[in-house]
Amino acid sequence: MPELEDPATGGRPRRVLVTGGAGFIGSHLVERLLARGDHVVVCDDLSTGRQKNLDQARSIPTGSLTLVHSDLREFLTGAGRHDRFDRIIHLAAAVGVKRVMDDPIAAIRTNIDQTQSLFDFAIASGKPPTLIASSSEVYGKGVKTPFHEDDDVLYGPTTKTRWSYACSKAIDEHLAISHHRQNALPVVIVRFFNTVGPRQVGDYGMVLPRFVHAAITGEPLKVFGDGTQSRTFCDVRDIVDVLPRMLDIHAAVGRVFNLGSERVVTVRALAEVVVRTLGSASPITTVPYSDAFQEGFEELQTRCPDISRARANVGFEPKIGLEQTIKDIAAEMRAHRLVKGDAK
Ligand code: NAD
Repeated sequence: MPELEDPATGGRPRRVLVTGGAGFIGSHLVERLLARGDHVVVCDDLSTGRQKNLDQARSIPTGSLTLVHSDLREFLTGAGRHDRFDRIIHLAAAVGVKRVMDDPIAAIRTNIDQTQSLFDFAIASGKPPTLIASSSEVYGKGVKTPFHEDDDVLYGPTTKTRWSYACSKAIDEHLAISHHRQNALPVVIVRFFNTVGPRQVGDYGMVLPRFVHAAITGEPLKVFGDGTQSRTFCDVRDIVDVLPRMLDIHAAVGRVFNLGSERVVTVRALAEVVVRTLGSASPITTVPYSDAFQEGFEELQTRCPDISRARANVGFEPKIGLEQTIKDIAAEMRAHRLVKGDAK
């Protein structure tokens, strides 16, 4: 796979901006970048991220890490066009269905305005290769399985708030592709399907940390709906292995990539795997969507990625099994006594 030439660095370490780098995926990514000797600048407002997510990164002797505790737009305004990065990885977003349902205006604003500001900054500061995080939510309520990057998408009506997250991420993708075509910005777009692993918190509606937490504290595992909805769960460490490489490969530029696992499990089966893997005595119960979110909530029945494009072009191959991920999440929760509400 031919790599992009990197005249900007001339042999010196890469300077990489990671927005949302104190978050779940971001903190794992920062560790990978530091391990290869990059100088990493994290901009994070710590709205869902946590300083302590970066503790392990701080102990890595190679590279360097600077955490800027700031709203992304303020950071970009302050940075100015003279502040140059060799790579930009944009993960900052209002994340999770619950958070979006609670404050849709803030979520839409964060996801669209900040991404536009980021592209303006990237164009004004030398057009470094820029990766943006999108989501499997972009596929909306399409029923095809697996989802291919070029599939049509289908959303519910605008009166249903949950679709605003999907639309905001879809607009981000349109912006990225348009900046690539009109302004020659080298962009890569990744659509994460459920990404899981240590440090993810359940506060924002993420299912696996919720289940693991319940299993190790003896509480019931609450399955929303009837539990027949199916998902795939990919370990974050498999995801962050491939992300830096995607900005070095010609064939990735200007394109959209699904990133996720191909192992499909129903949410009910997921609860059972968690209980079995951790030897938990917790019961599994069901909760109607209307109690978990709000009346008329539309849940998606299935969501599975076709990862053949990422496999062929950037060598993406998930390796870590779901049971291993569950054990590692539980170990981390026990070690750090990570309980719900322990957000900072
Ligand atoms: P996360 O909430 O842990 O990470 C998001 C980070 O962005 C947090 O650290 C948060 O504090 C920061 N942030 C939010 N608004 C900000 C702002 N205005 N300025 C600066 N920082 C801000 O969630 P994550 O799971 O690590 O998600 C990372 C990215 O991946 C997001 O763009 C998300 O939409 C996308 N994604 C994740 C998943 C998943 O399964 N985890 C699935 C699909 C898409």
